[in-house]
Amino acid sequence: MDCGHTFAFHPLTSQCPKCGSEWLQAEYDYDLARDRWLRQLADRPFNLWRYHELLPVLHAPPAIDLGAGGTPLLPAVHLTQMLKLPHLYIKDERQSATSSFKDRQAAVTIAALQESGLTEMVVASTGNVAIAYSAYAARAGIKLWAFLTSLVPQEKMREVAIYGTQVVKVTASYDEAKRIAAAFAQQRGLYIDRGSRSIPTVESMKTLAFEISEQLTRQHPEARYGGLPWRAPDWYIQAVSGGLGPIGVAKGFRELYRMGFIDRMPKLGVVQAEGCSPMVQAWEQGKAQADPIPRPRTHITTLATGDPGRSYTLLHDYVREHGGAFVAVSDEEAFRAMHTLAKMEGLSMEPAAAVAFAGVIKMVRQGIIQLHETVVVNCSGHTMPIESHILGERWARHVVVARRPQEPPAETAPLGAPQEGLLAALSTIATERYPRILIVDDHEPARILLRRILQSLGDYTILEASDGYQALEIAQQNPPDLIILDLMMPGLDGFAVLDSLKSHPATADIPVIVVTAKTLTTDEQRRLRRMARLMYKGEFLSDEFFEEIRRLLEQAR
Ligand SMILES: *Cc1c(COP(=O)(O)O)cnc(C)c1O
Ligand SMILES: [Zn+2]
Repeated sequence: MDCGHTFAFHPLTSQCPKCGSEWLQAEYDYDLARDRWLRQLADRPFNLWRYHELLPVLHAPPAIDLGAGGTPLLPAVHLTQMLKLPHLYIKDERQSATSSFKDRQAAVTIAALQESGLTEMVVASTGNVAIAYSAYAARAGIKLWAFLTSLVPQEKMREVAIYGTQVVKVTASYDEAKRIAAAFAQQRGLYIDRGSRSIPTVESMKTLAFEISEQLTRQHPEARYGGLPWRAPDWYIQAVSGGLGPIGVAKGFRELYRMGFIDRMPKLGVVQAEGCSPMVQAWEQGKAQADPIPRPRTHITTLATGDPGRSYTLLHDYVREHGGAFVAVSDEEAFRAMHTLAKMEGLSMEPAAAVAFAGVIKMVRQGIIQLHETVVVNCSGHTMPIESHILGERWARHVVVARRPQEPPAETAPLGAPQEGLLAALSTIATERYPRILIVDDHEPARILLRRILQSLGDYTILEASDGYQALEIAQQNPPDLIILDLMMPGLDGFAVLDSLKSHPATADIPVIVVTAKTLTTDEQRRLRRMARLMYKGEFLSDEFFEEIRRLLEQAR
């Protein structure tokens, strides 16, 4: 990368023989690749080996493969409405053999090492890299030394160990663990993954760009521009530690552009944890070099690279040229996003992955992301069991079955016999005592969104009405504890429903939250405020909305 000298690839070459620079970049025969892809790609299976012409391996797929790449690109379901961002997609990298996007890195690197006859290697890791390498190394018969900072959660350490990897716990920061691992590898002449300076590592991450572009085109063939084979998103967004992911992805998009597969380079959204955000700080100070953070202060160990080195400069240059943003989020914002994504999208992820989503939420709120743009977020991993501090208290219901001394144990009781103890115990989670909330909206997706929010908020019995008449009928027969009312409905609209509710004694005192997408005149606002609480659609992500529901229900008691 520094003097332009070219030479043949070998994984153990870690420096330019001419100038000594450690920054190397792979080049390929792009005309050949283009020609082959246009003719053959449709018949190849959807995994990362389908792009083998642009990977540093000779034989693909290798026998050690565990099904790397080919993860789904999921359209967001509820988040699109909550953020008013209709073209939001999630690249679900949890669905890899080792449950994070580091799976690509290990699959390609181990294949390249195996082709070169190497049988021992070293990694330093905050967890996921070591887990991914451990699995592929086991299959390739390569001995792996993993240097892990002692901050890595026990669950991840044990996962690394079960594959038979030599685990070295380093009681120090991640940056220090990396230095110790590098010294160890040099002493013994072993291959070490050096992140953005290792060719197979960077090359593996390109496949994310290839897959995303191909998948977006498949989902929206009509959105192809000017007859080009594929389309790029407007944004690629990722939670970043050392920055390897976006560096590889950027190279992938550059290659697609060069081959004429896409006509634009996406903007990069680099999201870091506030307590370890050297890139964000440097960007905000207008610097092309980042000052290292010696002691990262975040619970999200996966993202604890304090010294990004030249990787930041490469990303800085990309964002200067093609657009993008560097954003920091707090651990708390990440944990909140983690809950939102699990409850609203059905995606349970590790905190590091949630950092990217917290970043998207922030960037939409700050207007950095425009609502018409196509946004792809890397859901980068889910490797460990949920840690208890993330759930807080009261995350499960406890049912205790009392048994009389002479009663046989439940499993030996005759089938069908009512078990008093069991029924009594279940009554502690009886649903009929839950507050009843009526959702009134003619638009079904809006009802489903509200229903899902309420389901995840707590114990409510949820009723739904699709128009004003049905709403009044339900309210009069068995008055609910709270009504959430849409304003704009055909037939009887929200104003009319409110008037009718307020004029009948049985329903006059039911609290009502009016939700509307429409901007109201001051007159309308005044009229509504006397009878109800007013919320705007799109405010559903705010804690205020949840608090409002809790408060109104308390009052109604
Ligand atoms: C490694 C990792 C990241 C950060 O990726 P980089 O591109 O190396 O900065 C984010 N999320 C998860 C789950 C990871 O394992
Ligand atoms: Zn050189």
